[in-house]
Amino acid sequence: MNGTDLAARARRTMAGGTVDVVEPATGAVLTTVGLADETDVDRAVRTAQEAQPAWSATPPNKRAAVLRRAARLLERDRAEIAEWLVREGGAVRGKAAVEIDSVLDELWVAAALPTQPHGQLMPSEDDRQSIARRVPLGVVGVIAPWNFPLLLATRAVAPALALGNAVVLKPDQQTPISGGFALAHLFAEAGLPEGLLHVLPGDAGPGAALVAHPDVPMIAFTGSTAVGRLVGETAGRLLKRASLELGGNNAFVVLADADLDLAASAGAWGSFNHQGQICMAAGRHVVVADVVEGYTERLARRADKLAVGDPWRLDPDLGPIVNHAQLNRVAEIVAESVRQGARIRAGGTHDGLFYRPTVLDNVTPDMPVFTEEIFGPVAPVIVADDEDDAVRLANATPYGLVAAVQTRGPARGLAVAGRLKTGIVHVNDQTVADNAFVPFGGRGASGNGTRYGAGHSWDEFTQWQWLTVCETTRPGPF
Ligand code: NAD
Repeated sequence: MNGTDLAARARRTMAGGTVDVVEPATGAVLTTVGLADETDVDRAVRTAQEAQPAWSATPPNKRAAVLRRAARLLERDRAEIAEWLVREGGAVRGKAAVEIDSVLDELWVAAALPTQPHGQLMPSEDDRQSIARRVPLGVVGVIAPWNFPLLLATRAVAPALALGNAVVLKPDQQTPISGGFALAHLFAEAGLPEGLLHVLPGDAGPGAALVAHPDVPMIAFTGSTAVGRLVGETAGRLLKRASLELGGNNAFVVLADADLDLAASAGAWGSFNHQGQICMAAGRHVVVADVVEGYTERLARRADKLAVGDPWRLDPDLGPIVNHAQLNRVAEIVAESVRQGARIRAGGTHDGLFYRPTVLDNVTPDMPVFTEEIFGPVAPVIVADDEDDAVRLANATPYGLVAAVQTRGPARGLAVAGRLKTGIVHVNDQTVADNAFVPFGGRGASGNGTRYGAGHSWDEFTQWQWLTVCETTRPGPF
């Protein structure tokens, strides 16, 4: 496979028409792909439904082998797929490489699932066998965003397939190749039988149709909190399972005893990595008063040194913001906060979609830069009186994805971590971290408590069935 092949294969006819795939760095049209509508969704779900029982009945080691082959093919094709991550998504090359490594882990970890025990032999009060076993759900709908398109699709698609489900994947229409067709081609070449994985690029229309489809018993959604609420409402009404991984507004807490040079380095990475377009980005730097000037000054110096540019033709630290709507949103959040009294210590300017890494201080909890998920390379610094006040400020958000604490005392960090209302906490690291083996997920407005990763996928992508077997029919009392 090469990038041109991928683009050619993605140019299939769909009922929703076509959509251009644009390179954010240049505005160039990279390719044009089919756009799905609800009739495509219905057709894909029906085909998936027909293919799923045979796949579920396929021996577990054979299902595992398909996932392992997909991983090996990704190793072979990583250069082409990385190019799509860079050009379609605006990722710098390092980010694309990390994303592909994470996807390899997801595939290998998912490949281990089918051969694990599927249930338990339960105690029984008489001579019948009583078994609790995990069975597939059927057709799983996966809806993913553009920011880590391949990883956020794979972390649901791979375990769902491994555990015997079929999948209809709706990538964001800005990243249909790296977020959809690349994965489908890997699986097809790896020997996944036809009909089990469908890629339907589109926006809210096909997304909502997938969520509402009566034959899709589960939706694995990653995206904004606003859309996640809509997905959750529909799923609740239709009594279907929804796993919701949503936005974040994550606190990076710097205590008075932190090593400020290391903290500024970690904080800059947490806020500016992938232009801050990460659900786990450090969105609020909560710094104890004694060290706030020293920390802010170091953070601003680091921001000033970073290069922003076209990630395919140059080798910058940051690439472009993904589109103009998102750029305008970031710029407006910063401008409004500055109108309310925030001070720009670094950045605050942009050239087209290339937004400078920005540090703000004098931030107060009512400013949009504190209350909103920014999703841009902006590090707002807010002063906390002391440790208790830092915990209060860190928790002063409806979101609950991740937090980080910087301190020279790991035990102190652990104690503070226990008071933070997030699904993930890191002591002496920044906020952005994920791997395929841990229970990844948020709470509050960041998600509904579902977890991705290793064994937790059993809870997401299968359902329990209690099964009893008697030697002969048990007569009743009537
Ligand atoms: P978004 O919610 O606008 O879009 C996400 C996906 O949902 C896209 O595929 C989109 O086409 C689809 N969609 C849009 N409207 C829909 C509808 N009505 N019904 C069904 N599907 C619909 O999110 P975005 O702005 O593209 O992505 C960024 C957001 O995703 C941020 O808030 C970020 O924090 C969040 N995110 C969360 C995680 C996590 O693991 N918690 C990971 C990455 C991104």
